[in-house]
Amino acid sequence: MYRTHDNGTLSLEALGQEVVLSGWIQKIRDKGFMIWVDLRDRYGITQLIFDAERTDPKTMELAKKLGREFVIQVRGTVIERESKNPNMPTGDVEILVSELTLLNSALTPPFTIEDQTDGGEDLRMKYRYLDIRRKPVRENLMFRHKVSMAVRNYLSAQNFIEVETPYLIKSTPEGARDFVVPSRMNPGQFYALPQSPQTFKQLLMVGGMDRYFQIVKCFRDEDLRADRQPEFTQIDCEMAFVSQEDVLNAFEGLTRHLLKEIVGVEVGDFPRMTYDQAMERYGNDKPDIRFGMEFGVLNHCAQHRDFGVFNSAELVVGIAVPGGNAYSRKEIDALIDWVKRPQIGAQGMVYCRVAEDGTFKSSVDKFYTPDDLAQWAETTGAKPGDLICVLSGPKDKVRPQLSALRMELAQRLGLRRPDEFAPLWVVDFPLLEWDEETQRYHAMHHPFTSPKPGQMELLETDPSAVKANAYDLVLNGNEIGGGSIRIHDKGIQSKMFDYLGFTPEEAKAQFGFLMDAFQYGAPPHGGIAFGLDRLVAILGGQETIRDFIAFPKNNAGRDVMIDAPAPIDQGQLNELHLSIGLKP
Ligand code: ASP
Repeated sequence: MYRTHDNGTLSLEALGQEVVLSGWIQKIRDKGFMIWVDLRDRYGITQLIFDAERTDPKTMELAKKLGREFVIQVRGTVIERESKNPNMPTGDVEILVSELTLLNSALTPPFTIEDQTDGGEDLRMKYRYLDIRRKPVRENLMFRHKVSMAVRNYLSAQNFIEVETPYLIKSTPEGARDFVVPSRMNPGQFYALPQSPQTFKQLLMVGGMDRYFQIVKCFRDEDLRADRQPEFTQIDCEMAFVSQEDVLNAFEGLTRHLLKEIVGVEVGDFPRMTYDQAMERYGNDKPDIRFGMEFGVLNHCAQHRDFGVFNSAELVVGIAVPGGNAYSRKEIDALIDWVKRPQIGAQGMVYCRVAEDGTFKSSVDKFYTPDDLAQWAETTGAKPGDLICVLSGPKDKVRPQLSALRMELAQRLGLRRPDEFAPLWVVDFPLLEWDEETQRYHAMHHPFTSPKPGQMELLETDPSAVKANAYDLVLNGNEIGGGSIRIHDKGIQSKMFDYLGFTPEEAKAQFGFLMDAFQYGAPPHGGIAFGLDRLVAILGGQETIRDFIAFPKNNAGRDVMIDAPAPIDQGQLNELHLSIGLKP
């Protein structure tokens, strides 16, 4: 038997017991006649003591040769510690070792395997298996497990069935590029890895499964943005015979359950906001509503004077920064530089201080009267002591710019508290989105999303005004889930493909199976998918999804531990009927 107990359980209750423990050596303190060792496993750390007066000389001698991360097994007696450590569950006791077995030695680890480590990100990723021995990483993975289990249990109790769908499929458009897999047995043909199980879950509804879910890997070959993974995990769900209201209620239930079960927070009914409202009030379709600083549209009180910059702008919009009047001139200049950085791209920023006595001092005093500025304050909700920041320009540029500033300032002001949870639904998304590159409309969610009833006709006259039965669940400024009510009628689906620029032949080749299925009694259906990695990170009070993934890829999409992607040899290429056009 390798162990009678794990390293996280022994306490004074076990005094005098003979126990066997196994684990890794985290730390050694060698005082010559006495040696203390911290023995670690997944459950915790137990202190061992080798004492020349009580431990036999051979064991003592072997103990002298131990090193960090050696794997050992010991037999010994539980005794009371002289200097107790109240910070650990096993801190009252230590094990007086009588037998020591070396199970495996270890090279000196490239970084210290403790809560605080000296290892940088790259090094830790290269030796991720050592990183996983560290408590913070281990706890994140255990936390993820807890969330997954809570999801499974909840959905299963609500009659959802977990069904596995294939990974080797044909392209499903979710707006990214596919990862493809060459087929050895079908020369020149390729599978695509699913960007999501979208079409399969719809087919499960046609198959009468009624309520489906799956915790599933999805693959998207996107240009990598910070904290995106080319493979990621979704909680993918679909329901038959539902309207949008039914789906929102079902998954508000799941989210509320998770908040209560995992973080112990009870939240009331989730607010709902239309996409248009979210854009107007926060400049963003995933607003963080843990704090105010809502947009105030100033066109009416900023475009009646001689200030050309504002007069020529489509939108003049401001936010009130709580306590911002305390910023020095230098700090405000730094803010202006911040919004002018290429990543944000504002032309400049107008500001107005609201002094404690309620008087105004703005960067455009030349143009505006105190009464004008009082209107700015009223519109943005600025109070004495605040700072009003104003941007102007085309709507679609200014909104994201001011939204970025709002988030940045809230971060600096400590308003984005990780222990506070503010979920909301954003509904009524536009069906279509104009794509500059291809100069045509694309489905904003995906081509299977149904337009709002009665809006199909608008497609011909005013496509960008068509709203969809599509919704996002937003938590603390992150989109954690998104879905829609689907088209379940062949005629409408083929019209949609036609509208999105598929020829009938292309639509048939790519999605014939789905439209065929719709002819055999497809029920009305809809669903949603949550990003599990992000959800877990937010519930864990953190923002980086990589910290909650056992073996993540780096920002360049590489796994630096196994060194992938990597070339394959000529034989394999031949077998797959591939020739690589790369010059050496
Ligand atoms: N398939 C969609 C996605 O991955 C989610 C859904 O519509 O259910 O975003």
